[in-house]
Formats: sequence, structure tokens, C-alpha cells
Amino acid sequence: MHLNDTSLLETRAFVAGEWISTTGKLTVVNPADSTILVEVADCDRTIAARSISFAASAQVLWAKRTAKDRASILRRWYDLVVANADDLAMILMSEMGKPLAEAHGEVLYGASYIEWFAEEAKRVYGETIPGHAEDKRLLVLRQPVGVVAAITPWNFPNAMIARKIAPALAAGCAIVAKPAAETPLSALALAVLAERAGLPKGLLSILPSSDAVGMGREFCENPTVRKISFTGSTNVGRILMKQGADQIKKLSLELGGNAPFIVFDDADIDVAVDGLIASKFRNAGQTCVCTNRIYVQADVADQFATKLAQKVATLKVGAGSDPASQIGPLISMAALAKVEDHVADAVSGGAKLVLGGHGAGGTFYMPTVLAGCNATMKITREETFGPVAGLIRFESEAEVIAAANDTEFGLAAYVFTRDLARSWRMMEALECGMVGVNTGHISTELAPFGGIKQSGMGREGSRHGLEDYLELKYCCISM
Ligand code: ADP
Repeated sequence: MHLNDTSLLETRAFVAGEWISTTGKLTVVNPADSTILVEVADCDRTIAARSISFAASAQVLWAKRTAKDRASILRRWYDLVVANADDLAMILMSEMGKPLAEAHGEVLYGASYIEWFAEEAKRVYGETIPGHAEDKRLLVLRQPVGVVAAITPWNFPNAMIARKIAPALAAGCAIVAKPAAETPLSALALAVLAERAGLPKGLLSILPSSDAVGMGREFCENPTVRKISFTGSTNVGRILMKQGADQIKKLSLELGGNAPFIVFDDADIDVAVDGLIASKFRNAGQTCVCTNRIYVQADVADQFATKLAQKVATLKVGAGSDPASQIGPLISMAALAKVEDHVADAVSGGAKLVLGGHGAGGTFYMPTVLAGCNATMKITREETFGPVAGLIRFESEAEVIAAANDTEFGLAAYVFTRDLARSWRMMEALECGMVGVNTGHISTELAPFGGIKQSGMGREGSRHGLEDYLELKYCCISM
């Protein structure tokens, strides 16, 4: 891989302010061709424990510094990330597979959280409350939770970790993070730049590891860790919640989704098709806010399917290194097998293949459109995490609300209609944390990202994103 600054391709772990190698190694593979990229340090529980204990002392000093001080270091980090965006995108594309332009977009998206929280660091305001007696004065302090442990997934190797590290540091916390074993390089490169920005030693540790279970246990069982911030599957979120119960560990969980995408017959169909391409095919369908169930009102269902298939047919599949590519590889052969299984299940249940429906060599899958899907199919019940659009017909607003909410997940939803009153009714009725109305693009550092039901708890981004890293302390002063 060609980089302007080769020192960004770091293969050691960042442990308590030192770069260390380990005897055991973690192999990082390019998902586009299964070639080995590099071998990276493989951390175990003991290394995690060392990072955590060092983080605790670093955090005390960090929390004492002025918010402006913390903000200016974060701001320098942001500037360095933006200045090195091309290299970071190249690293990201190589380990994760998404097209280079998309990888570049992710790097800037991740950076936007660093910028935002650098600004918000200065706005951690306390409160005074009128007292309950003449001699009482009431005060609320907002203080950092302390040492945070983060676990992140492979689908956004840069942004998912940036949006945990930035608010944690802004709030005055220290953070120990385990990136996904598939994609540790983007996280390590971010740490190289954080160190260059002048982040004090020990506040940030990046621990690639093949032992996710052991690291998860250390994070849950080590009493110095006051909070865990996790992005990944609902299943692992559930494990962390159970493991964290003994110590009543504070948790932020960004878990799986099963986003409904609803097109009413009064919608602008072209806008809806574009919205679907954005929300379904981005990252080859491998995002937690990706559309997973597409409900189209009967009157416009055929028109929508035809226009959609025409657009989807133009999407170019290929390695992320090819500038023309729009759909990169899936992360692994296991991911491909799941997509194939969902498509086969839908077809055997009576769905009609409009486009695609097969692999494109290696870990690649052709963008696919299926019509005539229904509520019993795997494609409707589970997250497919691939470039497959399954269309379901509906008749009435009440019917589609019930269908959309008939899932244990509640992350994102998308609605397309030109009726203002209906937009409001849908925004209020859908059981989810985020709704896009006439758009498939909802993610921004300015807004609270997160889910309800089994899609998680807590929010990332916006002023609410800082709350997850702060505790309230009420003080009652008698005069
Ligand atoms: P995905 O399907 O996206 O890989 P996972 O939830 O399995 O979702 O993985 C997300 C992150 O959780 C990764 O960093 C992975 O290593 C980590 N992980 C997986 N299993 C566990 C576990 N038992 N405890 C802690 N972390 C885990």
C-alpha cells in the first residue's frame, strides 16, 4: 500500500503510552483478495490490565487540566487526522475493503467527532438549583466517569473508535480500546496521530487482540474500568451487560439494527430510490443503520422496483483500490455465506429475483434486488449485512407501522412521503432511535446517534454524546 507517511502503518500495540510488540501476532488480511497485509501485536488480558491501571493515574491529572487545554489537544489531533486523511483512507480501505472514496469519507466523518467534542469539552456546564430550605444551596457538578474501556467493530474501523475516544477525552476520561481483530490498523494510526498531537501518556491505549472474550472479561471484571462503550452485535452487547452486572458497570451500547425503509405512494419515487441506494448499498450493506426491510405501498411497488433495479444495475462491484468501485468486498467468506443464505431463503419462500442474486468471485457479492419478500423470511427478521434489497408490499399506514415495529431492534428507520402530517405521524410512531424522512443519509456528529429496544442504549455525537462519559454529582450546601 502506498502511503505518504509510512509511520502511520503502525503494527505495535499502544499500551500505557508505549508502543510494544508481542510474541504472538494478529494477522491482518485484505478482504478484497485475502492476501496478508501485516502482522500486528496481539494483546492479552494482562496487557489490558496494565493499560487500565496506567490509565487510572493519567486520568486523574487529565481531569484536573482546564477544559480549554483538553480541547486544544483534541483540536490538534483533529487537524492531524484531516491532514493525513489520504493515508488513513488508504489504510482503512486496505484492511476493511470499502472503496477508497468511501474510506476517505469515513476518515473525515470520524474526524468530525473529534472536532465536535474538542468544541464541546468547554461546555460541560454544571447547575445551581434553588434550595429546599432558606439555608440550603444546591449544586450539580458534572464529572468524568473515569477510565473507559471501548470495543469496536470492523465495519467503520476509524469512525467507530474516533467517536468513543473523542468524547471520553473531552469529558476528562482515559480510554483503553480494543478494535476489531479484522481492522486494528486504522485505530493504531489514529493513536500515532493522537500522540503527535501531544496527548499525555497513558490516556489512550489501543490493544489489538485475538482474544475478544478475555479482553471483554478484563474490561467487565476490572473495577478500575468505570464504563464500557461498545459498538457491535446485540449478542455481544448482551454478554457485556451480563458480565458487567456484578460491578453495575455503566454501559453505552450501539448494537444491531433492522432498519425499515418505507415508501408511501405519495413519495417522490426518484428521491426514494436514491435514498435507498444511499442507505442500503453504502459499505456494501455492512452498516448498522443500513436499510434491511423495504416496505413499498402497493400502488407504486412495481414502479419503485423497476427504477431501483435500473439504478442498482449501474453500481460497479470491485476492489476498493479501483476508483470506479462502488461496492467493495464483504468482510469475509462467512459474511458472504450469510448473504447467500438469506437470498436462498427468500427465493425458496417465494421472493422473485429482480437483479443479482449471486457472488461475484471471492468475497464479492452482486448488488441484488428481490421483490415479494414477506415477514417470515430471514432477510426481514435478521440483519443481512450485504448488498441485498428485499422489497415488501403494503397497503395501509397502520399496517406498515405495525410491520416496521415488529422487531426486537430499534436503531434507524427511513420514511418517504410528501405528506407533512404523515411524516409527523411516522416519526412519532416508529420505535427507533433515528428517523430519516425523505433521506437515506442521517449520520452526523451534530446529532445523537443511537438506538432503543435491543439496538442499545446511550447516544454518540451531539451534546448528548458527552453525557455518556459524565456523572452528575449533587452537592447540598448548608449556610
Ligand atoms: P461483528 O458481527 O460486527 O463482528 P461482534 O459483536 O462480534 O460484531 O464484534 C464487535 C466487537 O466485539 C469486535 O471488536 C469483537 O472482537 C468484539 N467481541 C466479540 N465477542 C466478544 C466478547 N465475548 N466480549 C467482548 N468483545 C467481544
